[in-house]
Amino acid sequence: MAIAADQETAFWHPFADMGAVKSNEFVLTRGEGSWLWDDQGRKFIDASAALWYVNVGHGRAEIADAAAAQLKKLASYSCFGDGVTEPTRELAAKLADLSGLPGARVFFNSGGSDAVETTAKLARLFHDAHGNGQRTEIISRTNAYHGTHGYGTSLGGIDPNRVGWGQLMPGITHVEHDSVAALEETIAKAGADNVAAFIFEPVIGAGGVLPPSEGYVEGVAELCRSQGILLIVDSTICGMGRIGTWYGFERFGIEPDMVIFAKGVTSGYLPLGGVVVHGRVAEPFWSAPGRMVRHGNTYSGHAACCAAGLANIEIMERENLVPRGMALEGTLYDALAPLADHPLVSEVRGGTGLMAAVELKPEVIQANPKAVGQAYVHTREAGGVLVRPLVRSIAVSPPLIITEDEIAQIGDGIRAGLDSLLAASA
Ligand code: PLP
Repeated sequence: MAIAADQETAFWHPFADMGAVKSNEFVLTRGEGSWLWDDQGRKFIDASAALWYVNVGHGRAEIADAAAAQLKKLASYSCFGDGVTEPTRELAAKLADLSGLPGARVFFNSGGSDAVETTAKLARLFHDAHGNGQRTEIISRTNAYHGTHGYGTSLGGIDPNRVGWGQLMPGITHVEHDSVAALEETIAKAGADNVAAFIFEPVIGAGGVLPPSEGYVEGVAELCRSQGILLIVDSTICGMGRIGTWYGFERFGIEPDMVIFAKGVTSGYLPLGGVVVHGRVAEPFWSAPGRMVRHGNTYSGHAACCAAGLANIEIMERENLVPRGMALEGTLYDALAPLADHPLVSEVRGGTGLMAAVELKPEVIQANPKAVGQAYVHTREAGGVLVRPLVRSIAVSPPLIITEDEIAQIGDGIRAGLDSLLAASA
């Protein structure tokens, strides 16, 4: 039996103010393509692909059927040690192949945060295996988001996410997010021989949709390569077509050491994340018996999740969805750019991939610290569009199947929401 809408919830929402949300949930019941319906039968455009992940759109029976078939046959089996299931092997081979990285191997986790932990630990272990156990420092960036686990919280560069948890992990430094020179300086200060890895998102997502400046990605890649520092690309958001390629990094012609994938790998139909590891990083652990890597999760390589991933990738290939992340980037940016003249807005960012952000003016947020959350609610209620509230902006990252007409509706819906917020605050 459905729980009455006004009944206080038992569900502790992630990233939520439960004091405000407990009797005020937004209940979704159905999805189809780029559209969602709530429990009152109202229809919305899913302009954020849920949480940057429903890349193939909602309601794909094919993925549900593939997962169901695997669940009936063998839901899963532990992959610790030598155990494995067929879809796990198949998806690993597919993801390794799609990366184009020489000798690529794939480590599976349950999501992006898990995968971040894998990269941080493997980076240190790799150097240790080469007799460089002092290389433990990991460099991250301001405005970065790398999930909420131990390393991820510490690597994150969004200030409000880092406070109140007590001491974060040692051995992590943050550099200015878009400066090769800042990275170079930090490496020099730490001593390159002490640095294990540098981690970055090709386009910063949760930190506000910040595309890299021209040459930045190529510059940090070259710098890390020249200093023996492992390059970790966190493509939790930017992968699976979001910026027009399978893993995001290909756009910049670089060859990373580890690439994190999650979200779009199953389009969120079931939870899955992981890491594509370059052959040269895997080598010490794969070349001969004798070195066990004591890391992994209960659901690393989960059979039904991998079956969902295979079905999702099949759809992406068949419908040629991956290039749409780039083909539509200009259309999305052009649809939102006029919002820059709205009285509440300071700027609109985007243009690299099917992702963009509309930032509210600092004085608007200062006068009303809840303005971003309210902009999301007003855009939903007055504009019929679901966006993602971030720290200072609302973000848009629709499914890759979105049409140009729907993109125009997103722009109109956000304007209606901002107008409604403006009117409510007058
Ligand atoms: N890394 C990046 C770049 C992300 O955007 C996210 C989530 O949005 C994560 C890691 C964490 O992924 P998850 O929420 O699946 O644990």
